[in-house]
Amino acid sequence: MDRATFPLRYTRQIRFPRVGIAGQSKLLAARVVLVGCGALGAGLAEILVRSGVGHLRLVDRDIVDATNLGRQATYTQRDADMGLPKAAALAEHLRSFNPEVEIEPHVADFEAATAPALLDGCQLVLDGTDNLEARYLINDLCVRAGIPWIYGACVGASGMTAVVLPGETPCLRCLFPDPPPLGTLETCESAGIIAPVAALIASLQAGEALKLLCGDTAALRRTLLQVEMWPWRLVELGGAKPTPRADCPACGQRKFEFAEGARAAKAAVLCGRNSVQLRRGNVAGSVDLNALARRLEQHFTVTHNGWVLRVCAEGLDLTLFDDGRALVSGTGDPAVARGVFDRVVGS
Ligand SMILES: [Zn+2]
Repeated sequence: MDRATFPLRYTRQIRFPRVGIAGQSKLLAARVVLVGCGALGAGLAEILVRSGVGHLRLVDRDIVDATNLGRQATYTQRDADMGLPKAAALAEHLRSFNPEVEIEPHVADFEAATAPALLDGCQLVLDGTDNLEARYLINDLCVRAGIPWIYGACVGASGMTAVVLPGETPCLRCLFPDPPPLGTLETCESAGIIAPVAALIASLQAGEALKLLCGDTAALRRTLLQVEMWPWRLVELGGAKPTPRADCPACGQRKFEFAEGARAAKAAVLCGRNSVQLRRGNVAGSVDLNALARRLEQHFTVTHNGWVLRVCAEGLDLTLFDDGRALVSGTGDPAVARGVFDRVVGS
């Protein structure tokens, strides 16, 4: 394809020599999966679609609500009023930004049983999720299949991102072998979040995605980047050329516990009770309900009777047991139950 046959929208990007005509052709032929369409995901999707990434598959289980509008790019008041699924609403907006690329929305929970099919045929996976279980699952599936993925996370005014090139750079389990104990990490629901840190991390992820899709792997940042925005602090971990760890369960020992479902959460709809039981796969030992109560009671109505912890959030009742089990009452939809659990307790 010569310069004249490209749509005008890519002119400035083609003029940047490290993209050029060759890079733009690769972007238009690219197939990318984005898991999670919240603040990171929506920001990432907009940049990639405007840049001409030819095929973007969106995966998200949530609906748009008013609390998303303070930071999640592209979503509108109408999306929230109509309660549209994020994947569907985002697909509609993205098509209006660039009708020349193909957008494939999936309103679905990203879990071990269904995730491999959602990654089928892709060359890059982008992390726009809000929970660790999904990230460890992405890591297992990508390391097992040799697909690059780009990790991103943010809460409060802090963010973190890394590019995982299986076999070349450390994977998520090289960096953090196991997720932290259940309920110990802050979430955007408990600690809040400011819009610019989500936009910054999404931009950093999108920049590495463009380099990778243009085939300029030598230019990729290979460090784990940690950003504190308020007050400002930037830390890059891993040295000049970090490599995978030989003792890593995933890329060293080829054990894929998250992909095989051994450490996945199990959800069961409780008949006739409008409730879902969640059993987390990550829990080793008992959950410190006292510590969790102290963290959550700053933000929610919490009761703790020594045996179970009850939290009211988003119109639902969560009852947590110290073996990591939870009952979510007020919904019969496992995806809704998982969503509120991950936002409030974290996973
Ligand atoms: Zn690893």
